[in-house]
Amino acid sequence: MKKQGLVKLTKSGLYCERGDFYIDPWLPVKKAVLTHAHADHTYRGNQDYLVPEEGKRLSRIRLGDEARISTQKYGAAADINGVKVSFHPAGHVLGSAQVRVEYKGEIWVISGDYKLMPDATCTAFEPVKCHHFITEATFGLPIYRWQPTEFIFEEINDWWRRNREKEKVSVIFAYSLGKSQRIMNGIDRTIGRIFTHGAVERLTQAYRESGVDLPETKYVGAVENRKEFAGSLIVAPPSSHGSTWLRKFGVYSTGFASGWMIVRGARRRKAVDRGFVLSDHADWTELQTAIRGAEAETVYVTHGFIPELVRWLNENDINAKPLKTQYVGDENEEGDVLKDEFAKQEVETE
Ligand SMILES: [Zn+2]
Ligand SMILES: [Zn+2]
Repeated sequence: MKKQGLVKLTKSGLYCERGDFYIDPWLPVKKAVLTHAHADHTYRGNQDYLVPEEGKRLSRIRLGDEARISTQKYGAAADINGVKVSFHPAGHVLGSAQVRVEYKGEIWVISGDYKLMPDATCTAFEPVKCHHFITEATFGLPIYRWQPTEFIFEEINDWWRRNREKEKVSVIFAYSLGKSQRIMNGIDRTIGRIFTHGAVERLTQAYRESGVDLPETKYVGAVENRKEFAGSLIVAPPSSHGSTWLRKFGVYSTGFASGWMIVRGARRRKAVDRGFVLSDHADWTELQTAIRGAEAETVYVTHGFIPELVRWLNENDINAKPLKTQYVGDENEEGDVLKDEFAKQEVETE
């Protein structure tokens, strides 16, 4: 039996009419169910929010003190006007969830952003079977395949150690929510001290309060004697790259941690000394694993390489359709801004 129509795309975002709620809406609505706290999924101005309990501190930072936020744990179910709504781990960042929506036996899963690669700063992705699966396709091309995370952390550790030996500061650019904390958790914290940009520090504190194991950090703005920075690691958002803020560190080397760093042109364009291929999104293989795991009769593809992934799925006997949302790239997110320019260039081969 074909079941469809429970969730549809409207000008405000994905809408469940039967339950009268939206998932990650981008225009103000009455009831918003959110997958995670990245800026392009968590917009302000909605009347009521339902967010995963595990990410409530991050949602609060994004939405402000006034927002009316209810939380719900992974696996628990809410009844919204007769529709069953539950969150399931997406493995993307702390408190990220796939939203499962069920009504009269029809099941939809809106996966938001997700990854299958292990990440100690958040709960691992959990496959959820459904009739209709909505997937992202940020890295939906075969050229995007990640190496095991341990290799990447070895690279970052080596880079930091060598800089330290040369009395250089190491400045790593990473998205302030998720990537920054994943780096801090995974690097060798015995190498030296870690300082943070203000945007990173605030979210890092929220991670700590949520029980994530992170090394001690110090906010750059609280440092009076610049000699303290010698040999340290500075974790800063990509937007601080090229700013005068960096001058206080004296002699430094720069690195950028992002999935896009797999593409040579992206690294050159970003003008960083080192690119570290570390992503919080599924790579080509992970997308396939997640999509197959959902066992859906229809897969809707959104965000990123939509036609490419849709074509591949249909050629491989998975019924897939494009879902064009009004998606706006955000610098807090995994460099969607870079995508169009660099995605189809050659893969880094060094
Ligand atoms: Zn995200
Ligand atoms: Zn996103």
